[in-house]
Amino acid sequence: MGNFYLKSADEQREASFRRLTKYIEEVIYPYHPYYRKMFQENGIKPSDIRKPSDLLKIPVTNKDDYRPDPIAFIVQPKVPGREAKYDTGKISGKFLAKYAAQSIFNYPRDCADLYRVNFKEGFAYRKIGRRLALEWNPIHFHASAGSTGDPTPAVYTYRDLHVPVKETASAFWAGEHVKWDIRALNIFPGAPHLAFFQVIMGKWLGGASGFDTFGGSIVPTKRQIQLFSEGGFAALIAIPSYLVYWLRRAVDMVASGEAKPLENLTMAICAAEPLTDSLRKHIKDLAARAGGCEDFRLVQGYGMTEMKVAFYECHENSNIHLNPKYFYWEVVDPETNEPVPEGEPGVLVFSHIDWRGTTFLRYSTGDFIARGIKWERCPHCGLTYQMMYPSIMRAKKDFTKLKGTRVALMELISAVRDTNGVYQFQAILDKEVEGDEFSRDMLIIRLAVQDGYDADSVCGDVRKNVKGRTEVTPDRIIVEQDKEKLELELFAKTGIKAEYVVENRPIHL
Ligand SMILES: [Zn+2]
Repeated sequence: MGNFYLKSADEQREASFRRLTKYIEEVIYPYHPYYRKMFQENGIKPSDIRKPSDLLKIPVTNKDDYRPDPIAFIVQPKVPGREAKYDTGKISGKFLAKYAAQSIFNYPRDCADLYRVNFKEGFAYRKIGRRLALEWNPIHFHASAGSTGDPTPAVYTYRDLHVPVKETASAFWAGEHVKWDIRALNIFPGAPHLAFFQVIMGKWLGGASGFDTFGGSIVPTKRQIQLFSEGGFAALIAIPSYLVYWLRRAVDMVASGEAKPLENLTMAICAAEPLTDSLRKHIKDLAARAGGCEDFRLVQGYGMTEMKVAFYECHENSNIHLNPKYFYWEVVDPETNEPVPEGEPGVLVFSHIDWRGTTFLRYSTGDFIARGIKWERCPHCGLTYQMMYPSIMRAKKDFTKLKGTRVALMELISAVRDTNGVYQFQAILDKEVEGDEFSRDMLIIRLAVQDGYDADSVCGDVRKNVKGRTEVTPDRIIVEQDKEKLELELFAKTGIKAEYVVENRPIHL
């Protein structure tokens, strides 16, 4: 079989596509309620998909296609003795033969069988039925905590966890400096979403060592910091805004002697929020001040509920390595949905390969990738992937119209955050007359100024930077004296993700 990740870019491109067509033929077309119907309605046969450009015959799937009936996106063959919810194909003889062989040789080993030997259940139920359930029966789901409030679940089967997740989540080990015995503190909040479960899956299926704090509301930040410095931890896994909060507390606690310097801190893995260059620099500076290692590294992860797994950088600034074996990736033009050439900007679209449970073909992530993706060998780990070149923006949500100007919210955030002397901030988008959608837009910035800086000159610099980068001038800048209060308010809404931009306008684009 060889190592899929050692193939050349061309070999891998071909192999990935071949795996996809086989998957469409053997699993999606027969057993996926939504795509089976869509293929039939559009007169598409699996054999029509012979080369990558044939994929265009399959329309892009959007969240709005998925939301009304998420169960129709779970692959589900018809099984004897079970009522079928959708009109899918009967489980094929090929799968049943596989389960028979697995049952006879008890490989992979099934422990449930140990406990049911006295129940006089037939071979078909106890052995074959069990193998069938391990492959197709949903055993876990989590949902995205998206801002729309409409949860979209991703369902996993036992096979999902032990085949695609096990391999893709093990990419945690792709960094040369990540040693087998590295211990990580997971400071993501405990919640049924991918960010949290990715870490759990990485530990249990990829064999990485860690402790999960379940976030600041379960184990207070102060206690987490003591735990980190006393427990021999070397890595932090976090959302960037919470990591900044956490490290600032650590700097204070180290300075006051409440915690020992974090001298084992060698890396942090950040995900769920974009990591800009200036934010990277700020986090690295804080890590150094908290006593972290000199060669402290910051790597990014990227994922979303629908993907069912997240992807990593193997090295600081190596860019995200998208898995090409269990996914087929495309970047498409946001207007026409036509694929763009390699390295060109567009919206990231993915198809699952060899998954069970919830699966998608050509699912639009809605993420706009500024420099696209390229199939290439990574200079750091020497492996071949589809590399994703930032920045990553939500095609729709990350922009707003402010006073008639299209503003990238990340630009606005960076413009304020990168100003010297800014300790913390929050931008408020409001109307001149509260609740009146026709009155003028207002941009208000609340600032906490770092000790030792002159508040007036910091405000002047913020005004200048925001105008320079977004073409919009803040209407008002409020200097907040109570730094801690502002920081608490920032995290008040979700407890973990900083709310840097508050939208108060009744109607906005
Ligand atoms: Zn690499």
